[in-house]
Amino acid sequence: MSEKRKRSWAEPYKIKMVEPVRMTTPDERKQAIEEAGYNTFLLRSRDVYIDLLTDSGTSAMSDRQWAGLMMGDESYAGSDNFYHLEETVRGYYGYKHLVPTHQGRAAEHIISKIMIKKGDIIPGNMYFTTTKVHQELAGGTFADIIIDEAHDPENEHPFKANVDLNKLEDLIKKYGAERIPYVSIATTVNMAGGQPISLENLKAVRKITNKHGIKIIHDMTRVAENAYFIKEREPGYAEMSVKDIVKEICSLTDGATMSAKKDALVNIGGFLAINDDEVFDKARNMVVIYEGLHTYGGMAGRDMEALAIGIKESVEFDHIRARVGQVLYLGNKLLEMGIPIVKPIGSHGVFLDAKKILPHLKQDELPAQSLAAAIYLDSGVRAMERGVVSAGREPKTGKHNYPKLELVRLTIPRRVYTQAHMDVVAESVEAVHRSSSDVTGLKFVYEPTYLRFFQSRFEPV
Ligand SMILES: *Cc1c(COP(=O)(O)O)cnc(C)c1O
Repeated sequence: MSEKRKRSWAEPYKIKMVEPVRMTTPDERKQAIEEAGYNTFLLRSRDVYIDLLTDSGTSAMSDRQWAGLMMGDESYAGSDNFYHLEETVRGYYGYKHLVPTHQGRAAEHIISKIMIKKGDIIPGNMYFTTTKVHQELAGGTFADIIIDEAHDPENEHPFKANVDLNKLEDLIKKYGAERIPYVSIATTVNMAGGQPISLENLKAVRKITNKHGIKIIHDMTRVAENAYFIKEREPGYAEMSVKDIVKEICSLTDGATMSAKKDALVNIGGFLAINDDEVFDKARNMVVIYEGLHTYGGMAGRDMEALAIGIKESVEFDHIRARVGQVLYLGNKLLEMGIPIVKPIGSHGVFLDAKKILPHLKQDELPAQSLAAAIYLDSGVRAMERGVVSAGREPKTGKHNYPKLELVRLTIPRRVYTQAHMDVVAESVEAVHRSSSDVTGLKFVYEPTYLRFFQSRFEPV
């Protein structure tokens, strides 16, 4: 009677408009990667077959969102689309006030300037590049309070973004609550490989911060993906909708910064949302200096409309299951092929362990950069280095920082590619893995001073 029938998930949409991608020959790819100095950031997108560089601003919008663009009210002040977005943020996330910004880092800039004073400590569940820079520019210091498991790629903890409550309490004891303006909580944690935080852990963080009168600011860039993992993995939440879990997460925090270029399915946009009236007042004043009037903050009316619609779509179960499901599909396929990846598989990408795939390369021979170039040469799939090149140099000694991990990130854009594309990606990674001893290392031939991974050039050693 209780016979279980297998039902695979499939993409919960059909395709109404297509954008051709170009397949290249091995000779064309060889020329393209040489011209790009073996750096995938320097490739032209026309030479890329399947583009897994990033999930930021690369989503496909729905027909509803495109229709929303046509409803753009481009009035300088009081645009209809702003009020639609404000109502959506209140309804879906529960925050009281909205300050639109052009993207996530602008919201981080504003909240950091308002809440952080010189000498403050800002604890967070692992850093994110732009978040940390704005905390530091405002005079603060970031302190990592994520659980140790998050730093171990082999560890299969289901909620690797959880806060180590002892680390948080020790910080409060050491510096005093007065020097901690807020705790920064990200859902999911990008730099840990797209790993989620549990509601149980977030509730415990809320309890501790309440006791000391410390606020929580939520980096909600991938909150729907985190909520999906809670529904799947955390006891007690299987029956709760992703939409309600998202709202519950937000209700445990005091405000949020959002890069809408990720979960919220738009190509540009972001916001700051905040419950506190006084902070809102300051933020609404400040946004006028840096972004634009408080009813557009750097976004066109049409972009605010597409975002309001994108937020609603982002928490639909069929969407989020297929989005995360596609990443899991690729990750599991690679695991079955015996390819070493970071575990558990995260929500927005699969991270290849380049040290294990190319054991013959020393870290000075840039294994992750070499692997990303080799995958491009094999198939035209574009990935991103996350290893010694991304880690940069130690400012004092001028020596390379040597991170523990040499990773290549295959980041999946939302609603852009099909399962068939994922099959091609897996086949290409397997082909490179099989003939990995043929992959030679790289050396720098040009290196800029800042964020060198974007513009460095290399050649084979
Ligand atoms: C992308 C990102 C940001 C910054 O947002 P932008 O829209 O790129 O400015 C902040 N936090 C996280 C976790 C992100 O992934």
